[in-house]
Amino acid sequence: MKIAVLPGDGIGPEIVAEAVKVLQRLEADQAAGLRFELEFADVGGTAYTNHGHPLPEATLALAKQADAVLFGAVGDPRFDALERHLRPEQAILGLRKNLGLFANLRPAILYGELAAASSLKPEVVAGLDILIVRELTGDIYFGQPRGRRPSPDGAFAGAPEAFDTMRYSRPEIERIAHVAFQAARTRKAAGHAGKVTSVDKANVLETFQFWKDVVIEVHAQYPDIALEHMYVDNAAMQLVKAPKKFDVIVTGNMFGDILSDEAAMLTGSIGMLPSASLDANGKGLYEPSHGSAPDIGGKGVANPLATILSAAMMLRYSLRQPEAAARIEQAVQAVLRQGLRTADIAEPGAQTVGTATMGDAVVAALG
Ligand code: NAD
Repeated sequence: MKIAVLPGDGIGPEIVAEAVKVLQRLEADQAAGLRFELEFADVGGTAYTNHGHPLPEATLALAKQADAVLFGAVGDPRFDALERHLRPEQAILGLRKNLGLFANLRPAILYGELAAASSLKPEVVAGLDILIVRELTGDIYFGQPRGRRPSPDGAFAGAPEAFDTMRYSRPEIERIAHVAFQAARTRKAAGHAGKVTSVDKANVLETFQFWKDVVIEVHAQYPDIALEHMYVDNAAMQLVKAPKKFDVIVTGNMFGDILSDEAAMLTGSIGMLPSASLDANGKGLYEPSHGSAPDIGGKGVANPLATILSAAMMLRYSLRQPEAAARIEQAVQAVLRQGLRTADIAEPGAQTVGTATMGDAVVAALG
């Protein structure tokens, strides 16, 4: 199983190192019979520094060849003044587009041990287990035309306007709707409600009236799954008011970007949440839901659990090793039960551990 490992910027290398330790521990377990060929490459600001581009050809070629991609994070304020196409964040957009990764699956699960880490009352969030399915390769992030920066130095001072175009095609909406309904069906078999909430802004935007109509058409093929529609402003409110009413949320790229971070915070820390970005055949890129956290990069305090849980999702969705995935998830739960906390999930005044100690504890809990 060939895995392209792209650590990236900020805390990326630190957290990916812990996920790699976990994969190597699984590999060392002869009985599991797993062989991983890990190949590392630069991405993001690191790649810009070393190769002049945030997504060098060689990195893209490796990602295309591999069975799955394990990604840390990209983004570095030192590169904010660069032209947009050279900024670190363009690497992740380029990977999504070039690998056809159109479906982003972001579970938001509140581990019982962390109920106090949420900013919401425990009775509102305890037992939360929802899935956000975000469309990833369309919407306003990829629409044409886009307003260009007016001067070579990239400054907007004095510019008369800037614009980006929101656009969705029928096939783009159909395929993400299928992913959401199928996920709801799988979850229903595991005891969840079997409901999809399609989040739109159909009251204002034509693109999202179209989205809503196409989702309704696709729903005809899933009579066992309930479908409801919600405007994005209401969804943002309901997520903090009564998040457990949701099961699967499906939405476009921009709304999904925002709502999935909101859902992440319901669980107490963005440092806990994995994500999978899948193509039509199940090949995927796996990364934590958070960014490169430049404020804590290099300090050894970042929470590696989202990345370790992303590696578990990789084993489940792309490498088809559900037992190994479950072993990792159980090991993560075990370290939380033991009381280990990185700073982001610790209660005020509680003792905390660093990135490597947390990773080592997960490795130890794997047995
Ligand atoms: P962020 O997710 O990097 O950080 C937000 C806050 O959460 C920060 O206070 C950070 O310290 C904290 N945090 C994030 N991950 C953590 C972890 N594992 N453990 C402990 N605390 C953690 O978001 P941001 O500050 O808005 O963005 C920083 C950079 O990351 C920007 O350049 C942005 O463009 C980039 N970014 C990249 C991705 C990606 O690579 N897919 C996603 C989002 C943001």
